[in-house]
Amino acid sequence: MGRALIIGAGGVASVVVHKCCQNPDVFEEICIASRTLEKCDALKHKLEGGSTKISTAKIDADKSEEVAALIHAFKPDIVINVALPYQDLSIMDACLATGVHYLDTANYEPPDLAKFEYSWQWAYRERFEKAGLIAVLGCGFDPGVTGVFSAHAMKHHFDEIHEIDILDANAGDHGYPFATNFNPEINIREITANGRYWENGQWVETPPLSEKRVYDFPEIGPKDMYLLYHEELESLAQNVKGLKRIRFWMTFSERYLTHLHVLENVGMTSIEPIEIQGIRISPLQFLKAVLPDPASLGPRTKGKTNIGCIYKGMKDGKPKTYYVYNVCVHEECYAEVGSQAISYTTGVPAMIGAMMVLKGLWNKPGVHNVEEFEPDPFMEALNMHGLPWKDTFEPNLVD
Ligand code: NDP
Repeated sequence: MGRALIIGAGGVASVVVHKCCQNPDVFEEICIASRTLEKCDALKHKLEGGSTKISTAKIDADKSEEVAALIHAFKPDIVINVALPYQDLSIMDACLATGVHYLDTANYEPPDLAKFEYSWQWAYRERFEKAGLIAVLGCGFDPGVTGVFSAHAMKHHFDEIHEIDILDANAGDHGYPFATNFNPEINIREITANGRYWENGQWVETPPLSEKRVYDFPEIGPKDMYLLYHEELESLAQNVKGLKRIRFWMTFSERYLTHLHVLENVGMTSIEPIEIQGIRISPLQFLKAVLPDPASLGPRTKGKTNIGCIYKGMKDGKPKTYYVYNVCVHEECYAEVGSQAISYTTGVPAMIGAMMVLKGLWNKPGVHNVEEFEPDPFMEALNMHGLPWKDTFEPNLVD
């Protein structure tokens, strides 16, 4: 049916590649392109022999013209960007220049500024629309499936949604004293930023990790969770009509937070570059280099994740609550694709989003967040491709 150019060869990209190869009727041909060619070749080596034809390429995706040249050579129908958020705009530019659809899993970040906002990418709306091209933004799990869950809740369960709590729990244990589950630079930037939630039409800011609740997660049990800002809050606050409050919560163990506080106190989480012996590097980039590679956590990680959304609102004049979530088992993900659940829960939705575009099920030109698309085929695909969801109308609520 189609050809996908996959940019990046890290933890998430590996899952995307595995999942595309499991669906050769949709992904007839893929090209894996990244900064380090050996990583692309290793993935190809692992997966070739199936029906999906695989090629690889070395690319610096910060350079739009390099991406455009590769698109001209490979002629994909869609570019799946699972490199880093810093590359979003250069890849979007290349897609516009060559007339190809685009999908990513994280909003654009300027390398020197932790902002987590969509403004830069939303500025491309008119250009994509005029070109008849689709750009799907934030199609991992959160953002991603959380947006699809919200579109599903709006369509099937509510006349009006008033409150959303997004709950992201990871009860996996990799046995290291400290490691991040995905790119440490992005992960630590996200956690050490101020918390922020949206209430009654405005943003309320909280000091980092200052709002804590204990929540009894289905299939996981009670966990400490903390209020964070997360990028889907921005788009959902706009796209869910009548919304009065939206918050995002993530679980962290005490051990993880103790390490993080120490690293912060000694200045290791700063993104401000410093010069050492003539080399300029930010402490956070250095920290990334000494921490375990998230891709190496797969075989060590045991336990479950539970990510989902709790909705409060009105249906047929009556108050209603609804909780929809996915539970993923780290060991099962590893057995299937050789990655832990964090990469798995991001890579599977990225593959499904690309599948929606290639099948013509998501066909609205322009730059869109996932909740703006039809949720039903995506919800069905989640059940078929490894991320089955469960729901209840009587959840425990977050106070
Ligand atoms: P990794 O660090 O494991 O992989 C990133 C890959 O991008 C690496 O292969 C890296 O190359 C490559 N890369 C970096 N810079 C460039 C460049 N200039 N040109 C070409 N390739 C480049 O990250 P993850 O796989 O964990 O994460 C991938 C993306 O997924 C990130 O944007 C992350 O924010 C997002 N994410 C989204 C989630 C969601 O639920 N929505 C959850 C988790 C992650 P090299 O190998 O040379 O370093």
